[in-house]
Amino acid sequence: MSAPATSAAPSYYEATADRGPPRAPLAGAHDAEVCIVGAGFAGLATALGLVERGVQGIVLLEAGRIACGASGRNGGFVFGGYSLGGAELVAQLGAEEARACYGLTQTAVDLIRHRIAAYAIECEAVDGGALLANWFDDDAVLDREQRLLREHFGVEWRRIGRDELARQVVTTRYSGALFEPDAFHFHPLKYALGIARAAQAGGVLLHEHSAVRAVERLADGRFRVATDGGTLRARHVVIAGGGTLRGVLPAIERAMLPIATYVMATEPLGARLEALIPSRAAIYDTRFAFDYYRRLNDTRLLWGGRISVRDRRPEQIARFLRADMLRVFPSLEDARIDFAWGGLMSYARHKMPQIGRMDGGALAGVWHACGFGGHGVAPTTVAGEALAEAISGRRPLPDAFRRYGLARTWRPFGLLAAQAAYHLAELKDAWRGRR
Ligand SMILES: Cc1cc2nc3c(=O)[nH]c(=O)nc-3n(C[C@H](O)[C@H](O)[C@H](O)COP(=O)(O)OP(=O)(O)OC[C@H]3O[C@@H](n4cnc5c(N)ncnc54)[C@H](O)[C@@H]3O)c2cc1C
Repeated sequence: MSAPATSAAPSYYEATADRGPPRAPLAGAHDAEVCIVGAGFAGLATALGLVERGVQGIVLLEAGRIACGASGRNGGFVFGGYSLGGAELVAQLGAEEARACYGLTQTAVDLIRHRIAAYAIECEAVDGGALLANWFDDDAVLDREQRLLREHFGVEWRRIGRDELARQVVTTRYSGALFEPDAFHFHPLKYALGIARAAQAGGVLLHEHSAVRAVERLADGRFRVATDGGTLRARHVVIAGGGTLRGVLPAIERAMLPIATYVMATEPLGARLEALIPSRAAIYDTRFAFDYYRRLNDTRLLWGGRISVRDRRPEQIARFLRADMLRVFPSLEDARIDFAWGGLMSYARHKMPQIGRMDGGALAGVWHACGFGGHGVAPTTVAGEALAEAISGRRPLPDAFRRYGLARTWRPFGLLAAQAAYHLAELKDAWRGRR
């Protein structure tokens, strides 16, 4: 057995994407119609959504490099829904509004597909659907989910029995699965860079290494946004800073729990990978603390899971994710781990995205799109569309999001509570698994 070895270097995505030269930081004093803070998926989708609606004068300010946060480091699953589960969505919003809200993410999945084609974004998209594999020997788990999706969201996820699944994913770990045909997976960093290029081609000015330090409201109703090197006077400001936003807008930061989650990629496994996982789907399982994985085009296995409120070194990440992988695929004992990395999600207490506009205080009028949690690829596109519609004056924000405001998370207690809840859920999963 070879010991797990991680390159301390960047994520697999950083190692395989061509970023090109950095965009120049903001310098000097300028005016803008819209200033967007943060070039993750939420900020990028807002910028491109505005361009597509004919809005000009957009400036996007990014503290590091494009999609250097969760958006360029995630599992690459593109599917409907939110971090908040479907059953809770129905319970909280009622059947009609929940269906509309879920439907926004389905439209977003279609839009992401459309943009990949329309802007010729080479992001290794694999239209293979997603498999929700049942970790428990209990069909009721899948029955419930399938019924919920069919009855409340009008979505049909196909049932796959144990034997059929074992031909698609060669392991004895699962008792069956649901197949979500509309899902796909991609190289998230290449996608983000493609969206950034499309936005720039549409006139957006994009500045990297331009951390926003302060936002203030001016007497004429506009906002002044300051970085270390320059200032912008803008009619609209959109905060899309994800889990790394610090020291800019306390009301937004207090409403978010930055929580880490982890991914690794094996060495290229050659024909062995397809023999083990003939399915082209993105795969995850029915536990609360689930594994997720998918085949990469260069025959590596990308594997993710776990959450923590603490920072972990790549060696630690590789060690615990490798142990998870071996529980499902023991034959990968000798597979080397080439990359292991983490990323910060931003979670709201209610687990729904916070897409809205500050309606009080010194910064009333500032738009925000944050709190996408671990299920954010489609919802960030929902946010981009909703904000672009609202800012361009076409349609107010969807009602459903008003309900999910900037609820305070009471850090650090909120973080400790989130970690404790996760461990409790892990214990429950283990107990159910043994039953
Ligand atoms: C490891 C991991 C795996 C995941 N897997 C999946 C998955 O498979 N499918 C899925 O749907 N979701 C997944 N998610 C969740 C998804 O990636 C996130 O919900 C989504 O990317 C959040 O996008 P964002 O734009 O809100 O935040 P981010 O991507 O974090 O972007 C915020 C940006 O704002 C910048 N910024 C912060 N502060 C400032 C400032 N002061 N000035 C300027 N810029 C600033 C940051 O540098 C960053 O680039 C995963 C997340 C992680 C971490």
